[in-house]
Amino acid sequence: MSNGFKPIGTPSRTVEIMRKHDLHMKKSLGQNFLVEPQILENMLVSGQVDDSTTVIEIGPGIGALTEFLARHAKKVLAFEIDDRFIGILDDTLSPYDNVQVVHQDILSVDFHSSDYEWLHQEEKLLVIANLPYYITTPILMKLILSDLPFQRLVMMMQKEVAERIQASVGTKDYSSLTVAIQNRMDTAIAFMVPPTVFIPQPNVESAVLVLSRRPEALVEVNDDEAFQVFVQMCFKQRRKTLWNNLRNAYVNDERSVEELRALVEDIGIDPSRRAETLTIQEFATLYQQLF
Ligand code: SAM
Repeated sequence: MSNGFKPIGTPSRTVEIMRKHDLHMKKSLGQNFLVEPQILENMLVSGQVDDSTTVIEIGPGIGALTEFLARHAKKVLAFEIDDRFIGILDDTLSPYDNVQVVHQDILSVDFHSSDYEWLHQEEKLLVIANLPYYITTPILMKLILSDLPFQRLVMMMQKEVAERIQASVGTKDYSSLTVAIQNRMDTAIAFMVPPTVFIPQPNVESAVLVLSRRPEALVEVNDDEAFQVFVQMCFKQRRKTLWNNLRNAYVNDERSVEELRALVEDIGIDPSRRAETLTIQEFATLYQQLF
């Protein structure tokens, strides 16, 4: 690296910082730090980060990715749950005046609050993160259902989760997560990442997924969360038929088996199909018919 720049995201500096602060990673918080500058660089390229870009980062840790972002973006707003890192970040990121670290659980951040109104005025907004894998889905859903005007999300996640999000209808990876995300986002796996570029090494392979908002959702439903729960119900027992799952979930005092069956058949969906064969449009038609 030029100009004597020694990135935080290398094995030697990360170990040095951890020793200095007597730091031990918390597995329960998904703490695996990136120690390969080329991967950090590639994440920036995938996001097309430039000096007009404002970046929201989730989980800066000791600042490996944050530092790369700070060097190339206009501003970085980073949310970290672990209070041990807040002072360390103050120290490791002291050369940069364009980073704001907030000590907060990302899932409890209210992007509608007046604190974050300014984000709506930014010229180019991205969300980039080496995610804590244990909450990948809730983080993605929170961002996608928010009205944050981001251009794209660049997210390091477990490889299998990226593949599930990317899956085509009719394949074994196609799931309720696929439906929820593909309804609103175009997705592309940018590159695969081996466990060896992290300290400590995770037990899984990783992938960087780039998600861009579609100009319009494929289907609009009255209640996104209720729709997501409905699709989850359809997939509840994957090996069983759609009918089996629907009957278990939606026959009740107000709706008999016969009524439910008639409603499904009425819209021309064969109840003996499996959920993984339904397109997003078919899930929406079924949801609108039943609710
Ligand atoms: N960005 C760093 C890197 O790339 O080396 C660290 C990434 S590490 C995989 C995930 C980070 O997310 C950790 O710093 C962890 O403490 C933080 N984290 C975990 N749960 C969080 C939450 N709910 N809100 C915000 N940060 C969280």
